[in-house]
Amino acid sequence: MKNLRLTALNGGPPRRTVIRVGEVTIGEGFTVIAGPCSVESEAQTLETARAVKEAGAHMLRGGAFKPRSSPYSFQGLGIKGLQILEKAKKETCLPVVTEVLDPRDVSWVCEYVDVLQIGTRNMQNYSLLKEVGKTDKPVLLKRGMYSTLEEWLNCAEYILAEGNPNVILCERGIRSFDTYTRNTLDLSVVPAVKEVSHLPIFVDPSHGTGKLTLIEPMSLAARAAGADGIMVEVHCNPAEALCDGDQSLSPAMFASMMVKLTHLDICMKEIEGM
Ligand code: PEP
Ligand code: MN
Repeated sequence: MKNLRLTALNGGPPRRTVIRVGEVTIGEGFTVIAGPCSVESEAQTLETARAVKEAGAHMLRGGAFKPRSSPYSFQGLGIKGLQILEKAKKETCLPVVTEVLDPRDVSWVCEYVDVLQIGTRNMQNYSLLKEVGKTDKPVLLKRGMYSTLEEWLNCAEYILAEGNPNVILCERGIRSFDTYTRNTLDLSVVPAVKEVSHLPIFVDPSHGTGKLTLIEPMSLAARAAGADGIMVEVHCNPAEALCDGDQSLSPAMFASMMVKLTHLDICMKEIEGM
């Protein structure tokens, strides 16, 4: 892997990037980001935020700008969505992660949220990467659905090269020949990232599988593989969701998964110490 001046370990002493977001420390311990695919209304977002907080989530996710396959699908609430996220943060104290789609939105979106997300479709949007690289907000950089690890790390390099060292990588599945799942979740990339880079690596099993039944086992597997955290979609009423309802956990499913993740985390710490 050439020219990864800032993101690669470059054979030096092992070091890991740790990112502080409010009270949350990414890269130390296992961090869970949960929330709806999209911010749909104040009631839906607040109800979901309260439920994920209660179950032990560390951060809240929610899209205000949605990159939809069809221009006729719900595109997100924009600034109103950001104001709702701000309100949810105020009530729950959960730091907020949201996606930015357009370089022109980056500076003002920073006023509302704690972490900027770059989605899979924009991983190689170099002007967007440069813009988020100029901010002081941590960036959650999703893997492009057709991208190699090297291409992905080069995109992280764009952000670091602009002066922002706080990048969180997020595996969200890649396109394959299989149609049973929405994407093929590449969990082997988790230990692979650890071999070549100091950046924290998250897994998104919601978009990575697109299948409700596979989210819990893949979340547990992500922890076992050494991921620094997961990001999952949770909706207070999945059947009514305007986006990705099929892959959204109910609050009860999320709470039950969190109990198992907590147990696994204890076991894994013991194994990792061996
Ligand atoms: C999302 O997390 O809201 C999203 C759109 O994911 P992705 O970019 O991975 O498809
Ligand atoms: Mn989604």
